Amino acid sequence: MPIISAKNLIKKYPNPEKSGETFFAVKDVNLNIEEGEIFGLLGPNGAGKTTTLEMLEGLNNFDEGSIEIDGIDVKVNPYELKKIIGVQLQSNEYFDRLNLSDLLNLFAALYSTSIKPEEILSNVQLENKISALPDELSGGQRQRFSIACALVHNPKILFLDEPTTGLDPQAKRNLWQLAKTLNENGMTIVITTHNMEEAEFLCDRIAIMDQGSIIAQDTPQQLIADHAAEIPERRLQGNLEDVFLNLTGLGLRE
Ligand code: ADP
Repeated sequence: MPIISAKNLIKKYPNPEKSGETFFAVKDVNLNIEEGEIFGLLGPNGAGKTTTLEMLEGLNNFDEGSIEIDGIDVKVNPYELKKIIGVQLQSNEYFDRLNLSDLLNLFAALYSTSIKPEEILSNVQLENKISALPDELSGGQRQRFSIACALVHNPKILFLDEPTTGLDPQAKRNLWQLAKTLNENGMTIVITTHNMEEAEFLCDRIAIMDQGSIIAQDTPQQLIADHAAEIPERRLQGNLEDVFLNLTGLGLRE
């Protein structure tokens, strides 16, 4: 049985071009995500990815359809849902006078749990920043810290919304490795990204959305076989990112 099952999801918003009318931001979306998968949601801007993610996270209501996550009806029991999901947002604002350790303790208190901040920070390679303020972190460190905040209650499912946007190649690969490690330890991960290499590297299965609908859903390999098979030669050499990484190394600079 899938850990996430969304059926016939519909979300309408006011149509910005015609007052008094609505349009389908999400149109009859069905998703079945298995426990232990890394599942990617791809699509151009405005496709409905964030809206879909927010509905799965219980952060946005929906007009029609149903969502069940690990046996929890999201509409009926959003508070039960919060206990088993971790949400990493695209941008986070923190209390700017609290250091990373204080902030993690605060998040843990919100979940009525206690944690060892140094353990959570070491999972995201930030153990040496335990006394730093969020403003003192680089972009990659901020992204890793926002994942750390989503991990305080050891969730079964982690939602990542464009986690590597704006990161340098080292920080990006480092975050990919973090996602893989969390997944290997049993966490189901749902991720949105505009980075196709990231989707291919990380995702077991992918749904491609356009104009509110899912237009294709499969493993990356099958999607390529079905929709990009006419390209005869696979690239046998690396790309410019590999050049950059070979020359500058994989180590984080921060
Ligand atoms: P994506 O994440 O794929 O870029 P979104 O889910 O953010 O797409 O948006 C889907 C559509 O819904 C877009 O046309 C967007 O402008 C619209 N939309 C998103 N949120 C709102 C909102 N709160 N009010 C009105 N329209 C919205």
